[in-house]
Amino acid sequence: MNATDGLAVRDLTVHYGPVRALGGVSLDVPPGAVVAVLGGNGAGKSTLLRAISGTLRFQRGGISAGEISFEGERLSGAAPAAVVARGVVQVPEGRRIFSRMTVEENLRAGALGARRGARPRMIPHGAAEARERVLALFPVLAERARQRAGLLSGGEQQMLAIGRALMARPRLLLLDEPTLGLAPLMAARIADTIKEINAQGTSVLLVEQNAALALSLASHAYVLEVGEVALHGPAAGLAESDEVRRRYLGIG
Ligand code: ATP
Repeated sequence: MNATDGLAVRDLTVHYGPVRALGGVSLDVPPGAVVAVLGGNGAGKSTLLRAISGTLRFQRGGISAGEISFEGERLSGAAPAAVVARGVVQVPEGRRIFSRMTVEENLRAGALGARRGARPRMIPHGAAEARERVLALFPVLAERARQRAGLLSGGEQQMLAIGRALMARPRLLLLDEPTLGLAPLMAARIADTIKEINAQGTSVLLVEQNAALALSLASHAYVLEVGEVALHGPAAGLAESDEVRRRYLGIG
C-alpha cells in the first residue's frame, strides 16, 4: 500500500506505565475499507484505537515505539482535537454520550469537535449537511432531538454516539465495540448502519467482540492476542480458519 493512502500503523508499541499493552502492531485501513480487529479481553483492541485517536494520554498510556500515519501524514503524538481535525474520529467503548444534554446538544458537540483547526468559513455549511446525513441515517434522533440523551435506550445511545462522531465529518471512523450489550436485532441495525456509513465513503476500523458480525462487515481483519497481531487477512478467509472458528466464532 502507498504510504499516502488510508491509515497505516507500523510496529506500534504502547505501555501503560510498566504494562505493555501493544507490542509491535502493524495494520492498514485502505481508503474506503472496513477493517475489523478481533481479540479477547485485554488483547489491546481499545488501546490500539486510543493510540490512533490520541486519547491514550487520558489513560496514562503512551506510545513507546512505532508510527501511525493517515493519508501520508504522521498522526502519532497528535492531540485528540488535531486527530479529529485530520478526519479521524473515535466512538469510544461505552458510548460516552453526554447524558444530561439533549440529543441535539450532543450532536452539536460533535460538530464543535471538528471546528478546531478547520477552516472557519467551511463550518456552518458543513455542519448542517452533516446533521442532515446523521438524521437520515438515524431518524429516531430527529424524533428525540429535545430529549435528554440519558433517556434513550442502549441502542439509541449507540446511534447517538455514532451520529455525534459523524458530525465531525470523519474520513475514518474508529468504532469500539458498537454492539456491546445490545439485543441481536439492535446489533443487526447498527451493523446495517455501519455498512451504509461506509457506502457513503467513510472508512471504518471496527473493534468488536461479536466476531461473526465483524467478519461479515469487514473486508480485512486482524486478530490481536496479548498485544500482538496473531493472524490477519481477508475477512472471508479468517472466518474459515480453524483457530478463528474455534476461539472467536464458537464453532468446531
Ligand atoms: P477489552 O475488550 O477487555 O476492553 P481490549 O482488547 O480492548 O480488552 P485493552 O483495554 O486495550 O484491551 O487492554 C490491553 C492491556 O492493557 C490489558 O492488559 C489491560 O489490563 C491494560 N490496560 C488497559 N488500560 C489500562 C490503563 N489505563 N492502565 C493500565 N493498564 C491498562
